[in-house]
Amino acid sequence: MSYGERELVIRTAEDRLAERLDDGRMHVLRADVPLRDMVPLAESDLKYTIVLFAHCAACGTTWFYGLCIRGRPAYKPVQAGAEERWPWSPVPERERWAR
Ligand SMILES: [Zn+2]
Repeated sequence: MSYGERELVIRTAEDRLAERLDDGRMHVLRADVPLRDMVPLAESDLKYTIVLFAHCAACGTTWFYGLCIRGRPAYKPVQAGAEERWPWSPVPERERWAR
């Protein structure tokens, strides 16, 4: 996956998720940082994986959205409660990476 392809996949997934969060179809269960902060944090190289779990009000599905420094972004349904089993790690101080 080229850099450009990766950017496009991330932007598409982020926009789709943002639309659903904004209109209330989905809500965030737990996340390292707010959705629109995920790319700036990923680009800082200060944290290897940045993830967000969201719940769909319409069908009850839990969705996982994750970025890691080099890999393909992930946007997929996961088991309910997955956010409780995720190995959460500390987020570097915001002033070091926020735009
Ligand atoms: Zn749904």
